[in-house]
Formats: sequence, structure tokens, C-alpha cells
Amino acid sequence: MKLIFSYAVLSYFLLGSDAHRLSRLIEPINYNIKLRPNLDSDYFNGVANITLKISGNHSNITLHSSCLNMSKAHANGVDLRIKQLPYERISVAYRNGGIFQPGVYSFFFKFVGKYGVYGLNKTEYGIKNDTRVIVVNEFEPYGARKAFPCFDEPYFKATFSIRLVSPNDSYYCVSNMPQIRINSSSDGTVYHFATTPKMSTYLVSLAVTDSANFTRHFQYRNRNFSTTIYSYNASNTNNNEVIEFAQAALEIFTDYTGIEYPLPKLDMIEYKKAKGLGTELWGLIQFKMGLLNQNLETYNKHERGFVIFHEVTHSWFGNLVTNDGWNHLWLQEGLTTYMSTKYFNQYFNVTLQPHNVFDLSNLFYEDKSKPLPLVTYPDQITEKDLFRNAVYSKGGAIFQVLETVMGPEAFQNVIRRYLKKFSYGSTTTDDIIKEFSKEKPELDIKSFMETHLYQSGLPVLSLDESSEGYIVTQHDIYNGTRKWTIPISYMQRNVTGHIWFDKDSKSVTIPRVADAGKVAGRKDWILLNIADSRGMYAVNYTEKIWDALLDSIEDLPDDEVENLAENTLILYMNEVINCDVILNLQEILPKCIKSTFRDPVLTVLEDIICYPDEFQLAYDKIKGNIDFNEDVLMLRGMDCIVKGDIMDILALTNSGINFILYCTMSRQFRVTFKEVFLRPLLHRLRPGSRYSNMDKSGEKTLISAV
Ligand SMILES: [Zn+2]
Repeated sequence: MKLIFSYAVLSYFLLGSDAHRLSRLIEPINYNIKLRPNLDSDYFNGVANITLKISGNHSNITLHSSCLNMSKAHANGVDLRIKQLPYERISVAYRNGGIFQPGVYSFFFKFVGKYGVYGLNKTEYGIKNDTRVIVVNEFEPYGARKAFPCFDEPYFKATFSIRLVSPNDSYYCVSNMPQIRINSSSDGTVYHFATTPKMSTYLVSLAVTDSANFTRHFQYRNRNFSTTIYSYNASNTNNNEVIEFAQAALEIFTDYTGIEYPLPKLDMIEYKKAKGLGTELWGLIQFKMGLLNQNLETYNKHERGFVIFHEVTHSWFGNLVTNDGWNHLWLQEGLTTYMSTKYFNQYFNVTLQPHNVFDLSNLFYEDKSKPLPLVTYPDQITEKDLFRNAVYSKGGAIFQVLETVMGPEAFQNVIRRYLKKFSYGSTTTDDIIKEFSKEKPELDIKSFMETHLYQSGLPVLSLDESSEGYIVTQHDIYNGTRKWTIPISYMQRNVTGHIWFDKDSKSVTIPRVADAGKVAGRKDWILLNIADSRGMYAVNYTEKIWDALLDSIEDLPDDEVENLAENTLILYMNEVINCDVILNLQEILPKCIKSTFRDPVLTVLEDIICYPDEFQLAYDKIKGNIDFNEDVLMLRGMDCIVKGDIMDILALTNSGINFILYCTMSRQFRVTFKEVFLRPLLHRLRPGSRYSNMDKSGEKTLISAV
């Protein structure tokens, strides 16, 4: 998929509702397409022969077409009448009123289309003043219908026999499959490509370019294989590294899935891509300028490696087995994010999480700001929301939890079975839930997946103690009604374990471990959500457990302290705990791990920056404990406070220049400015600041709001 780091470039338009999905009684078998881009105008010419299998009798056939000016249409040689419908669809019918009876038909369309960001796209490649024109396609998710009439939903898979016409001799054409023939015509040079395997429309890849190219031949299993890079200054020197990344991903996922990469080539092209960093178009993957060229230094080695791993991984998760509709996008993005991140980390021996698998803070934030279940119906979602962060991070985290609770062998069994069963087809969320549940019927995987996929949000778990052990309850901190089935991981001293919390249970009790191994003088402690089997929840401990944890914090591995810091930040940001928990924690932590709490502490300071007395109290607490730059903090605080109100501030200070001066003026000026202008603003924005509840005596009071 489109690896999107910035959503700003995406347009906002509503998807068609379920009612506008195409009939599955009419299925495309093959598209025979010829496209001729014009380099000196905004238009391109095309013809499409679509072989259709029709079941049942139909007076008209509905398919997708957007901004295509049709000049001719017929079915098996009989003229058709075309009617434009809402939601980028057309309806075609016999002019003589005849009925389409069951059978196989050849539909012909001749048309003129217009370039755009979606569909066929006339753009550029190269650097600075050395740029040239290139024609490529941007189809995912709804662009194919702007390049040729088609059944533009992932479910409708067909083979594609593509011809591209190069308008002048300095340009050549490439596509998903190898070129099989070239011939001259009055339109230009026609490039014929081998027919693709069955695939969805959004995976078609087209390029008309005059760029350099570099090919490496290598042995892939029993095949003579090749990868060609189409890029500015393509050469062994510039592209050697990225070919090695692609080769590595190819080998890793062939081994893991037991399925060979199905196409005869794996090419990559880079240009000034408008949307995302990469798109996994099968056989000719697209990348943003700089990702394939190690000498441009636009991206570092790990960034290039991660994007390439991600897009190559899609060959199995997304291209071979595709989500049935865009509402199941999490299936291919979650699986690809998890698998590519895991094996990218192994390959580079790093622990990078570029897609923030388990970025719990962000998942809680997304649920608070705009709660959306991962499986969302098309009429409820905008395109921006379709590719939201949770589709990748929560989707990926679900697969990580599954592998943890099932074990790697069982997880791999499911993946292999799933890919084999649905190869060249499509799946829904229910299909994958069934496959995982079948592998481990003793675990309530169905309830875990359903409660995390068909409803939004994540739980906060609270702990209490009894003579038997630790009692866990779950809480929906945003609307109070949702319940989740949660595999909980825990650690008590050197003992780790799992326990399942069913959505219909009020609580679950984790037995206290026996006294054996207890260190004399140390309190009993328990830690939930441990690093190698983290789940998607935050944990609120009682004051007594916090005390015990802090008492033993030097015994905890570093990554557990980091998790605890993130957990604390989530609780604070959601007003489950007061800021003094964080301030007291950082005071108690051993010096060597205090820096772990820098983010939570800075968040607290930002929140109270406009309250000089309270700020001073907090500042005194952290002074010498956590390193930070006061001016940076001031700017962070300003940024936090004025976000959305920048114009008000500019008006208050009478001119933008004064505001800029503010940042460079004396401390006294800044204090006065805050007192006069920002204090009322802050009160307006956030009445009842959390800090107002803080125990100013300095006593350690760990307040829980849950
Ligand atoms: Zn992707």
C-alpha cells in the first residue's frame, strides 16, 4: 500500500455507500487495454476491451468510469447506450433494448481521459533544475476508473493485457509485466506487455518515461530473475543498495510464506510522487524521489530499507490476497506493517518501529479525537480516515498480539494456510478471524479480534488486591460502554504469564506468585503489559502497587521502564492520573533511567507553563533530574497553547512582528506577556486545569480517577 506519512496531501471525498457497490453477478475476466499518453496536452487516448462473465439476465450493466469522454461502446459488436450515474459509475445498455443473458461477453470502449493526481498522472522525475516529464498512474484506491472503464473494487480481480504507446522515440514504456513485443504505428511505438496474473485494478502499474534504468540479474530459487530500477541517474553506484533490500525481502517472505513471488520481475520506479512514499503496484513498485537513489541522501538507509521492505511484503499481503473492499484495508496494511517491521528489524538488527506498532499514546489519542472501528463501512468514512494511522499501527499490533498468544509456529501455519486458500482472491475480516480461531480453538481469538476490530478504542485496566491475588477490571475511559476481550500479560518478580479477560466478565484475578524467590525486604509487585507480549491497553495501578513497583524499579529491564513511562503518559493525558504521579515518579527513579520519563515530564511542564507558581514548584522538583532546554520548553509550551489560536495571539500583540519579538525578548517580558494575555486564553481553552487538583504539599499522592 501507499505508505503515507502525511495525510495532508489526501483529498477528502466520501466513498460510495454499500448500496453503490457493483453487482457481483457481473465479473471481469480480462482487460485488454491500450493507452496513448500525449506529452504536449492534458489528455490521453484509450481503448479497452473487457471480457465479462455475466450471470443472470440484466437490462443494463453498471461499472466504474470517471471523467472519461466515451466516443464508442459496444458489446459483442452491438452498439451500447451509456448513461452516467452518481458515484463515478456508468450504466451501459443495448440501444435496441435487448437483455444481457448469462454468458461471456466482450465489451469495447473508446475514450479520451484527462491527467490528474488520480488516474493517469503527468508528473516529473529528477532533481532541482534537472527534471523531466514522466507519465505514471496513481490508482489506489479509486483512480483506475479515471484511466479506463473498469470494475474498480478490490474484489473484482482479472488479468490485464496492457499496451502503452510511446508518443515519441525518446520515451519508452514499462508496466507490471515484461515487454513481449514492440511495433510501430501511426500513433507512435506500441509496447505490448505479457498478461498479468489475476489482480485488482488498483495494482495496475504504467509508466511512459525517458529515464535512465539499471538492471541486475540474479538467481531467485530456480528462476533467472531480474530487477530494474527506473530513476534519475539509475546505475549500480546509485541503486545497488536498494536492489539488495528488495532481494532480501523477496527471499525472507518466500521462505516465510512458502509461496514464491508470482511475477517474472520485480521492478521499481521513482518520481515526484504526490501521494505517499511508495505504492506496491505489482511487478513495478512506485517510490517517491530519493527512496531508490542512495546518493541523493534524501532519505537515510533505514528509511529506504523500511519502505522497500514494506512494499515488497505487499506482494503476498495485499497483492496475492486482497481485502474484499476498502473497509477491510486493515487486513493487508496491518499484516504488512507487522511482518515487514519485524523482518526489517531482524535484517538490520535494529528495533525501529517506523510505523509505530504499539504506539499506544497515539492510538488512545486517535480514539479520543475521532473514534472509528478498524473495520469501517464505506459510507461512514472519508479517504483521509481510510488510510489513518490506526489501520497500520493498531492493525499491526493485533497481529503481534496474535503471534504472541498463539506462538510463532501456529501463527505461521495460519498465514500460510490463509495465503494458499485465498491466493488470487480476496478476503474479509471474518475470513481471517475464522482462520486464526481454527488454529487455536482453546483461545477466544474470535472475541479478541471482534472487540478490537468492530469497535473503536482501547481499554484502561485497573488493578486492585485481594488475598488471592490481583483483581483486574477494565474501563472504557471515553464513553464507558465498550468492553474488550483482552489477553493480559504480566510479570511478578521473575515469573511471567498470560491471562485472558473475557469481555463479559466483570473482573479477572491474577494469582499471586508463591513467596519463593522473593527478595528480603522487597514488596510484592506486578507489572502488566510486558514488553515481549504487549497488548493494546493501558494500566492504572493502585498507590500500593505503584509504591511496590518503584521500590523494585531497579530490578526491571530498561524496556519495561520505558513502557511504564508511556503508560503513565497515556494515563495523564486522559486525566486518569494527576500530574504529581509523573513528577513524583521522576523524582524517585534512579538517575540512570530518569531520562525515560522526559516526555511525560515535559508534557506536564507544557500544561502548567502559564501558572508561574505551580510551574516553579514542578520545576524545582525536576531540576537536576531531567535535562531539558528551558527555551525549547518555552517554545513547545507556546506551540501547545496557541495551536489553533495563533491568529488571536497575533491580534492581541497588535502585529506579527511583536509575536516574533516575544520569542527573543527578556524573561521578564515573557512572564508579563503570559500573565496578561495567555492566562485568560488558557482558562478559556482549558477550564479546570488538571494542575488545580495537585497536592501542593509535595506529599506523594497518587490519585486515580478510575
Ligand atoms: Zn502498505
